[in-house]
Amino acid sequence: MAQQVVLASNNAGKLAEFEALLLTSGLTVVPQGRFTAEVAAETGDTFLANALLKARHAARASGLPALADDSGLEVDCLEGAPGVRSARFAGPDACDADNNALLLRQLAGVPEARRGARFRCVLVYLRAVDDPEPLVCEGLWRGRILAEPRGTGGFGYDPLFLVPELARTAAELGTAEKNRYSHRGRALRALVAALRP
Ligand code: IMP
Repeated sequence: MAQQVVLASNNAGKLAEFEALLLTSGLTVVPQGRFTAEVAAETGDTFLANALLKARHAARASGLPALADDSGLEVDCLEGAPGVRSARFAGPDACDADNNALLLRQLAGVPEARRGARFRCVLVYLRAVDDPEPLVCEGLWRGRILAEPRGTGGFGYDPLFLVPELARTAAELGTAEKNRYSHRGRALRALVAALRP
């Protein structure tokens, strides 16, 4: 029987990506909203600290093994910002459009060659809430920030993130194609390999 794992997120976009990636792994993903309406406060200074906070919260609420990711966009010429603050870049209640608009303002006038960026994903898998050795995997995805959004798929900064080898933005890729290249896809494949008996 498939092992159920709680995903420490209620983001429908992420849930779809994880479900697609874990389809053949023997793991079935259950969103944490099925167990609790509370979300963990992301008070850590690093992706790893936040992923651990989220995974522990989900494992505690569900009694299941938990999977959490913390991810964000690191822009070279902004010294890695927005980084761990990616979701709240334009303020505590910012939506994707607010964050994208702020990013474009901060990059106004920056030439194409200096608009390099990468998505980073840190994934944590806890076998139980008190697991003393969480499994940690990381994935990176390099690209470039466009001057205006393109595409309607994905979420977050996807419409601004150009994947140079595909000449398309992340928002112009289908779920399966995005997973093949993305930071989360890379981290998750590493995790699935590490979990294989
Ligand atoms: P998290 O849910 O705390 O990991 O926050 C991640 C934030 O980083 C999201 O709200 C997005 O702003 C951004 N982000 C992470 N992964 C992606 C992605 O695949 N596409 C676009 N934006 C992303």
